[in-house]
Amino acid sequence: MRIFDPHIHMTSRTTDDYERMAAAGVRAVVEPSFWLGQPRTSAASFTDYFDSLIGWEPFRAGQFGVRHFATVALNPKEANDPRCRPVLDLLPRYLDKDAVVAVGEIGYDSMTPEEDEAFAAQLALAVAYDLPALVHTPHRDKARGCERTLAVVAESGIEAGRVVVDHLNEVTVKLVRDSGCWLGFSIYPDTKMTPSRMVELLREYGTDRMLVNSAADWGRSDPLLTRATGEAMLLAGFSDDDVDQVLWRNPVEFYGQSGRLDLSDLDVAVAVDPQTGNSILRGGS
Ligand SMILES: [Zn+2]
Repeated sequence: MRIFDPHIHMTSRTTDDYERMAAAGVRAVVEPSFWLGQPRTSAASFTDYFDSLIGWEPFRAGQFGVRHFATVALNPKEANDPRCRPVLDLLPRYLDKDAVVAVGEIGYDSMTPEEDEAFAAQLALAVAYDLPALVHTPHRDKARGCERTLAVVAESGIEAGRVVVDHLNEVTVKLVRDSGCWLGFSIYPDTKMTPSRMVELLREYGTDRMLVNSAADWGRSDPLLTRATGEAMLLAGFSDDDVDQVLWRNPVEFYGQSGRLDLSDLDVAVAVDPQTGNSILRGGS
C-alpha cells in the first residue's frame, strides 16, 4: 500500500514515527504550517518555523525515504494576535519556494473579523501565486463554520477544484461535496473521524476528491491512521485500486496542481493485475 499523508505535522513527531510510517507504506507527506500550542510573540518566530518546514524537516524525512512538502500561512488561531499579523507580509517570500505546494492552513478558528480578513487575504495570495489552498474548518459549530468558509472561498474567486476543505465529518461532507472543493478528513484516535466512519462516507460519496489524513501533531493523534483506513477499506470490499486512489493518487492530483510536486525516484512501483486491471501495490508491509 503506498500512502501520501496530505496533512501531518511532522515537526511534532519523533523519528520512531518516521520509521513506522515508512514501514506502513507512507512515501510522501504534506506538512501544513499551524499553531504550535505555545503562542508566538513575533513574526520572526514564524520565519524560523517556515525555514524549518522547507529545510530541516524535508531532510529529516528523507532519511526515512519519505518525501516531505509544506504549506505556509498565518494559521486561523494566531490570525487573532496583532503581534503575528506581520506574518502576512512574510508569506510571498515563501510562496515562491519549490517545497511549498499550497497556502495553508487558513480558514476559521473562532470566526472573528480578524480571521475573516486573514482568510480572504491568504486566498488572494493563493490566486496570485497560482497555488492550491488548504482550509481548516473550526472544531466548534462545524456546520456554520463550514458554510461561512465556503462562502468566503466562493467570493475569493479561487477555483473550487484548487481548494481542500479539511477536518470534515458526516455533518459537513455534503456541503463541501456540492461546492466542488476537495474534501479532507482527519482520522483521529478519539475525536473527529475514525477509519470505520470514513469507510461509510466513502461508500456513500465515492472516492473522487476525497483526501484522508492523520493530521498527527502534538496532541493525541496517530500517524498510522491513514494505513488503518486503507485496511478498513479493503475489509469493507473496496479494491486495491480504490485504496490507491484515496491514499495516493488523490493527494498527488490535488497538490500536483502546484506544479511543484516532485515525486521522482520514489520507491512506489505499481504493477497492474492483468486479470482485474487493479494495481498491485508494492512498498510497505
Ligand atoms: Zn493541522
